[in-house]
Amino acid sequence: MKVPLLDLRAQYAPLRSELIEAVTRVCDSQQFILGPEVEALERSLEAHLEVGHAVAVSSGTDAILAVLMALGIGPGSEVITPTYSFFATVGCVARVGAAPVLVDVDPVTFNVDAQAISRALTRRTRAILPVHLFGLCADMDPILEVAATHGVAVIEDACQAIGARYRGRQAGTMGIAGCFSFFPSKNLGAFGDGGLITTNDRVLAQELRLLRNHGAEQRYFHKRIGGNFRLDALQAAVLRVKLPHLNRWTEMRRQNAERYRVLFRQAGLTSVILPIEPEGFTHIFNQYVIRVPRRDAVREHLASEGIGSEIYYPVPFHRQQFFEILAYPPSSFPGAEEAAATSLALPIYGELTADQQEAVVRSVAAALAD
Ligand SMILES: *Cc1c(COP(=O)(O)O)cnc(C)c1O
Repeated sequence: MKVPLLDLRAQYAPLRSELIEAVTRVCDSQQFILGPEVEALERSLEAHLEVGHAVAVSSGTDAILAVLMALGIGPGSEVITPTYSFFATVGCVARVGAAPVLVDVDPVTFNVDAQAISRALTRRTRAILPVHLFGLCADMDPILEVAATHGVAVIEDACQAIGARYRGRQAGTMGIAGCFSFFPSKNLGAFGDGGLITTNDRVLAQELRLLRNHGAEQRYFHKRIGGNFRLDALQAAVLRVKLPHLNRWTEMRRQNAERYRVLFRQAGLTSVILPIEPEGFTHIFNQYVIRVPRRDAVREHLASEGIGSEIYYPVPFHRQQFFEILAYPPSSFPGAEEAAATSLALPIYGELTADQQEAVVRSVAAALAD
């Protein structure tokens, strides 16, 4: 039985005619950049994410970049961020000329904790950039407390965590700003690139609207240096069709995660460490990442049986070529090293069937029995 890591066609098929209608509407209007489609999407997302302001942008990466620019974070500033995430998180910090200060993650939650952040604070720290990795929020209360005590901003990388909750609050609404991605593999995926910034700060929202359009409110009158961080109307139209289904899709992912938990327990695979959902957290399972011994052999075995999997992420930031200059000692980040060496993402998309999940678990079991 073939089990792809992600099957976007299964989600697309039932919405096909509605999506084509939405795309046609934009084609007929011939208005492609920002405009009423994007504005309507922003209003819907503000309601959905329970936040004052939603600013749609060109990607999750540009969301992070624009927030750093809007807060004036640049040369001479330090930004604390986990060493274990997608590269965009740290890449944006370096791109604005600020110094990334890397901290370790807990290999059980894959997220940063406030203690590691506290130890990394200096006089130059301007922001903390926690990542809600794989769809589980970082433990935010102690992070927000450390940030408030030291007067630094918290920018949430919520790119993988749309709809995740932490003690009742939505991911992306706890810090000064939240950054989201509509990359096709995220829980809410566009037909290409797209992103979003959320904030409850009206002045920051205004600034971000300027920055996404080359710092201009009125065409050809530039108040700031910004960029082209605009979302296409076509992407907005697609996302408007998909958004009403997001909660249901996430619920399907959560049910699949629960089914894996039961299946792995029944299989008696004690060496497999499953993802957790701590009390007070709601995981949205953008990825379902287990940790296994002999990970690469397990992955190969899965592939030989037509089962997709992926390694998120094989190389933590401190070992990326670009950051060799930082020369972190090899043993600096044991949590991230453990995660990088053992993590394996299994198929978790909503339309996955029980039979497919059973095949995945059987295959992992067979690989570990070899
Ligand atoms: C996807 C992702 C991004 C970047 O989003 P893009 O839309 O691909 O630019 C940033 N951070 C994390 C953690 C992500 O998963």
